[in-house]
Amino acid sequence: MVKKLFIPGPTHVRESILEAQTAPMIGHRSTDYSNLQAAVTPKLQKLLYTEQPVFIFASSGTGVMEGALRQTVLKRALVTVCGAFSERWYEIAVANGVPTDRLDVPMGEGFTPEMIDSALSGGAYDVLTITLNETSTGVMNPLKDIAALVRAKYPDTLLLVDAVSAMAGVKIEFDAWDLDVAISSSQKCFALPPGLAITGVSERALKRAAQVPNRGYYFDFIDMLKYFKRNQTPATPAISLIYALNQQMDDILAEGLEARWARHAEMAGIVQDWARTYWELFPNEAFLSNTVTTISNTRNADISALNKELGKRGASISDGYGDLKGKTFRIAHMGDLTPADVTWVLGEINDILGL
Ligand SMILES: *Cc1c(COP(=O)(O)O)cnc(C)c1O
Repeated sequence: MVKKLFIPGPTHVRESILEAQTAPMIGHRSTDYSNLQAAVTPKLQKLLYTEQPVFIFASSGTGVMEGALRQTVLKRALVTVCGAFSERWYEIAVANGVPTDRLDVPMGEGFTPEMIDSALSGGAYDVLTITLNETSTGVMNPLKDIAALVRAKYPDTLLLVDAVSAMAGVKIEFDAWDLDVAISSSQKCFALPPGLAITGVSERALKRAAQVPNRGYYFDFIDMLKYFKRNQTPATPAISLIYALNQQMDDILAEGLEARWARHAEMAGIVQDWARTYWELFPNEAFLSNTVTTISNTRNADISALNKELGKRGASISDGYGDLKGKTFRIAHMGDLTPADVTWVLGEINDILGL
């Protein structure tokens, strides 16, 4: 049985999008390919409210997180850690020998501009990483306010944003907020199969990268830009996925960006209300996510048994991530799911558990 995925990636992919991948193959140095990339790029720029480059890497988001850290740090990076995914930035920095410190908050908490301000005030850092949506704890950080603080007081600090589980689900005004790198993966709010990392990159980040000698090869922003100008990529792009992305961007823009953000907020509200009624929300209410809800398992439910039963009914949710397994569970409400889908799956859970 096909299961509708209420998990934070991969998310449910509509049939028409799966089919868009089956278009005939074309050479990646052909005019046909350049036309495809030229068609999809402005749509991605609209999504990010930006006129700066949006690159499409044949990789999952983690690849670009590594590439971005490698090519933007000349002094030292400050990595904000509020869960397992934000900790990945720290692990990447260590693995690449990038000088780094971490700023931690307890699980379920997020970062305020004041916290960032005091951590940056010594002037030691030229890069700050922020995870817009921490998918393990269901925390959404106030990126707009943090970016305003950084730009006003720390003009030389680049802001690298893991927007993997947020981009295409919540509004990210790349230019107005003056971000430097915003990374996403195709299998989350874009509701595509995995394999693409869609990444906005600022002029400022490109200038910085040009100063970094050993900035890596596959994710080199400078090389990407060179090819971007002729609507190509340095290495072979994931052409089939880009066909699907092009179709999906048409559908996203046809829905309307504001309508898409509102639909995600509505789904989040439905799940949050349900969680407050029958369980407890895991994160601090000040940082609730619009794309995934992490719920404290206050009833000690057997989550894997629940998921097995849900599977028979055509749905799948997620257990807690890492240390939070069993203690929490997660319901994703991102991509092309609808409020009706979410209401349906919550009803099935109530029925299975007798709530
Ligand atoms: C899923 C996720 C990642 C990892 O993305 P991949 O596509 O698996 O590389 C990183 N950060 C966040 C916040 C995520 O949700």
